[in-house]
Amino acid sequence: MSRPGDPFETAYRVGTTLSASLDLDKVLASIARQVGEAMDVRWCDINEYDADAGTMTYAAVWSEQLRREDTDYVGTVVSMAERPERDAVIRKGDILETYLDDPGLDPRERAVMEQYGEGAVLEIPLVYGGEPLGVLGIVDARPERRYAEADKQLFRLVAQPAAIAIGNARAHRAQRERARSTAALLDSSRALAATLDVDEVLARVAQLAVEVSGVSQSAIYEYRAESDALVYKAECLAESAPEGASLQEVGAVYKMNECPHERAALAAIGAVEEYLSDPGLDPLRRQVMEEFGEATSLTLPLRFGESPVGLLRLYELDRERRFEPAEIDLLEALGEIASAAIHNARLFREEREQSGRLLGLFESTTGLASTFELGTIVSEIERGAARLFADARRVDVWLHGDDGALTPAGDVVAAARAEAAAAPPPPPSVVPAFGGLAAQALAALAPAQATGDDASELVVPFAVRGQAAGLVVVHGPGRRAFANAEVEALQVLANQAAVAVDNARLYRYVERQAIRDGLTDLANHRYFQERLRQECALARRYDLPLSLLMIDVDDFKKFNDEFGHQLGDEVLREIGEVLMGSVRHGIDLPARYGGEEFAVILPHTSADGALGEEQARTGGDEALPPRGAGALVVAERLRGAIAERAFAGHGGRRYAHVTVTVGVAQLSPDHQGAADLVRVADEALYAGKRAGRDRVEARP
Ligand code: GH3
Ligand code: MG
Ligand code: MG
Repeated sequence: MSRPGDPFETAYRVGTTLSASLDLDKVLASIARQVGEAMDVRWCDINEYDADAGTMTYAAVWSEQLRREDTDYVGTVVSMAERPERDAVIRKGDILETYLDDPGLDPRERAVMEQYGEGAVLEIPLVYGGEPLGVLGIVDARPERRYAEADKQLFRLVAQPAAIAIGNARAHRAQRERARSTAALLDSSRALAATLDVDEVLARVAQLAVEVSGVSQSAIYEYRAESDALVYKAECLAESAPEGASLQEVGAVYKMNECPHERAALAAIGAVEEYLSDPGLDPLRRQVMEEFGEATSLTLPLRFGESPVGLLRLYELDRERRFEPAEIDLLEALGEIASAAIHNARLFREEREQSGRLLGLFESTTGLASTFELGTIVSEIERGAARLFADARRVDVWLHGDDGALTPAGDVVAAARAEAAAAPPPPPSVVPAFGGLAAQALAALAPAQATGDDASELVVPFAVRGQAAGLVVVHGPGRRAFANAEVEALQVLANQAAVAVDNARLYRYVERQAIRDGLTDLANHRYFQERLRQECALARRYDLPLSLLMIDVDDFKKFNDEFGHQLGDEVLREIGEVLMGSVRHGIDLPARYGGEEFAVILPHTSADGALGEEQARTGGDEALPPRGAGALVVAERLRGAIAERAFAGHGGRRYAHVTVTVGVAQLSPDHQGAADLVRVADEALYAGKRAGRDRVEARP
């Protein structure tokens, strides 16, 4: 019988060889062999103990004559319910000796020992970190063998490194298992990331972040560059989180202006750890951390390519903790999945927005193409731009006015409407500042944008045949970058607008020509008749006075004979100018009645300047002629102005004078309508001619 060597040396050897491996099966086999050899026994075995399951697992065996049935037995799980004595050594907490020849031996144990040829058994619990992990046992076949104190001392010494080795190997196995399952989770998340449901992916990533790090809470924020805001996208609260840990509302939006400390987190290169106990902690972060009861936070910036797409944040609520580099690596891998998901979702959203834009553009284009009315066109542009930029605060449209200067579209529209109604031009609105950005865009005939903390601006000019025709200005919120696709969409709208505005101008011109007399630019006969009918109807309905002047050039036949038709025409043109310049713009209507005959409609005007009943009641109106300025006065003024005027021919050497006779009539209840009024004014005119010309004659 060989004796064990120096127990310390054996224990040391066991310890060093064991710590070299983390493979639990190898560790156990090695312990069994070294202990068995050192202690001169038949065999040595190790059982792993699972307190929760109430089982012993035959984990390793060594013997000099190892039989197949011994090795086959490795892996067998024995329930403590079947063999209650199996954990007697664990309950004892120290070495337990069992001898076959002990008369007090449990009969069931005796039966088992006899079955396996066991004479003397020595067992010791393997305890690591206060927890029993298993049992180390040696067996001698000789029932008369008794274990000496030296044997037990060695046994105790060997049990310690063995327990440590098993503990480490187990921890390693658990960690590997966790890594394996985490890898599987990561894989499944990567697959998930390919889907478009960003919320699902982010919720999963938030959950995984809690699982792999064991923190109380995780949260994912998405950064939206266009609105410069963080959107709270996903969160996960660990089961172990302290009671009352509050979650924020998913979907909540945090403007970066209101949480400037987050800008640094977004721009950070790697994970940022923050501790409440850190005296150098950003005061704003401290305030937030205190408010939410956070002791530690770990923030990982989420990036796709160069651009920040969000934040992954982990919170430890009840205590401070440090994060291991390996943990941070794993969290960063999760962060990448979240980044990709956010990026994908953004692409998808952009695509959807783009098709929405195209649809909106299509509607605007249809709207723009279906009208020649400038006001409708401008509101269509404004509406189209507002549709393209849901967050726009204001949309301004500028157009080239008749004077060629860029003017707010509202003023151009008002002027065009006034002209169409032959009304006086409206006063210009208070012109908003014409920004340098607009000037820049106009000079380059290309879009320009700028953004500040409080406001952003996008200017898109539009041109017709290479000439700037106007511009659209979109005023957005602060720190709003306009994406290429958005700018292009607005450019398409602006180009459509340019064509529509040009068409409207052309249409307005044609329309204007249809009611104008080509020589004098006064209203033509057809338009005069139409307006006179309207004015008669209005005067009747509102009981307002209405007068009509019929003007005929005196002895014009002779004038033509003397000076020629060309000067005759020039005289008629200039008489038109005199008429236009001597009546109330937009109220009175001078017209070329035909040949060398003119007519002037004077609404709200009596022949002698007396007020109509309605006017008398309301005290008149500022737009109306002063009291006493009746049609006779107007007629006399016109006559005088023409008589005084020296008309020059193209040569400019000969000056000629002409006179006119004016017939004045006022609409009376006897008149049937416009035709009667014209007839009466004509009668007055001819009376004037008979009376010697160059005079004003009236008929009631
Ligand atoms: P009064 O009206 O004073 O009775 O004499 P009048 O010579 O003007 O006679 P009336 O009005 O009947 O004559 C119209 C003349 O005006 C005929 C024509 O020579 C001239 N006239 C009409 N239309 C034009 C025009 O467009 N251009 C020129 N140059 N002359 C015209
Ligand atoms: Mg005539
Ligand atoms: Mg005449």
